Amino acid sequence: MAGFSTRAIHDGQEPDATTGAVNVPIYLSSTYAQEEIGKHKGWEYSRVSNPTRDALEANLASLEGGTSAHVFASGMAAISAMVTLLKTGDHVVCGENVYGGTPRLFDQIVAGYGIEFSYVDTSDPVALRAALRPNTKLVHIETPTNPLMTLTDIRQAAEICHAHNPDLDLAVDNTFMSPYFQQPIALGADLVMHSTTKYLNGHSDGLGGVLVGTKPRHKEQFAFIQKCTGGILSPFEAWLVMRGIKTLAVRMREHDRNGRAIAALLEAHPAVERVWYPGLPTHPQYALAKSQMSGFGGMIAFEMGSLERANRFLTKLTVCTLAESLGGVETLISHPATMTHAAIGQEARTRLGITDGMVRISVGIEDLADLEADLQQALNSL
Ligand SMILES: *Cc1c(COP(=O)(O)O)cnc(C)c1O
Repeated sequence: MAGFSTRAIHDGQEPDATTGAVNVPIYLSSTYAQEEIGKHKGWEYSRVSNPTRDALEANLASLEGGTSAHVFASGMAAISAMVTLLKTGDHVVCGENVYGGTPRLFDQIVAGYGIEFSYVDTSDPVALRAALRPNTKLVHIETPTNPLMTLTDIRQAAEICHAHNPDLDLAVDNTFMSPYFQQPIALGADLVMHSTTKYLNGHSDGLGGVLVGTKPRHKEQFAFIQKCTGGILSPFEAWLVMRGIKTLAVRMREHDRNGRAIAALLEAHPAVERVWYPGLPTHPQYALAKSQMSGFGGMIAFEMGSLERANRFLTKLTVCTLAESLGGVETLISHPATMTHAAIGQEARTRLGITDGMVRISVGIEDLADLEADLQQALNSL
């Protein structure tokens, strides 16, 4: 099998058969001419399939080592599609600190259809095993979590799930690491989900989501859901993600290089009380990080002591931008308690360990010296 970057640039993207164009064209066509009744070139209507989307899906299946991939209009649309695998009476185990939109969808919409959800600390294998029931059909985890960068051992989680029931699906939201640094399917997961909005697209200019499957039923079910519910990714956005993926490897190496340096800078600075980054030897799961990830990426959380100090620090920054989201080429910095984790409430934040003084940074690929100088001057001003 070819290497990661070669596949990122070529898989699913043969030069165009009619024109030789080396980039997959954006097929802006809702429908396709048919030669006679029942005879067509493989495409009938773009909700069902579209050549640009097909190319991206083939590419993503290859990069994650799955047998199918289906793309949706956003990460949340992909998770919504995933839960249509479930029926009334089924049970789901979900990591206790996954992306906030995920439990909102599960509890406020899907639970209404008679599907039960349990939230557990999946970094604890005993807790994971104890949460599984005879009717558990899906285990959905995120590793590392946001913003505390807690890891779940994917190999161990897959063993626990499959010993309980070989048909149970372990799904991993791989948005934070991207397939370049973490390959959940090779570690035993059954499904991989991404918000392509983040590292895969990489330029903060389009939303999208993907489900990568490993079983024939995943391929059938997710294609059927695209056709039935229509929450598909548009050809233009599919093209943007493909364009982004061509540089995924180079971008991830830079995010990782800058991330390691920024984590070290923050850890050494007296104005910072604590740093969470899986690439620091002081991270409690540093050994696990090295064994299941091939890099540590650009996501770091750190403690500034109070909301007031965090805000003073944030207002001094000039290169880093205060904004939600992550995974783009530009450095984004956010305040989880009032932004990404505002909706879960104070009590849930306290239980998870998300404080008012915590700041999260998505380290971009700007020149490291400029990022370091910006953070230094803002920290020194406190
Ligand atoms: C952003 C994000 C999502 C949701 O994706 P959207 O594209 O915003 O719908 C899901 N999981 C993780 C880890 C995310 O960061």
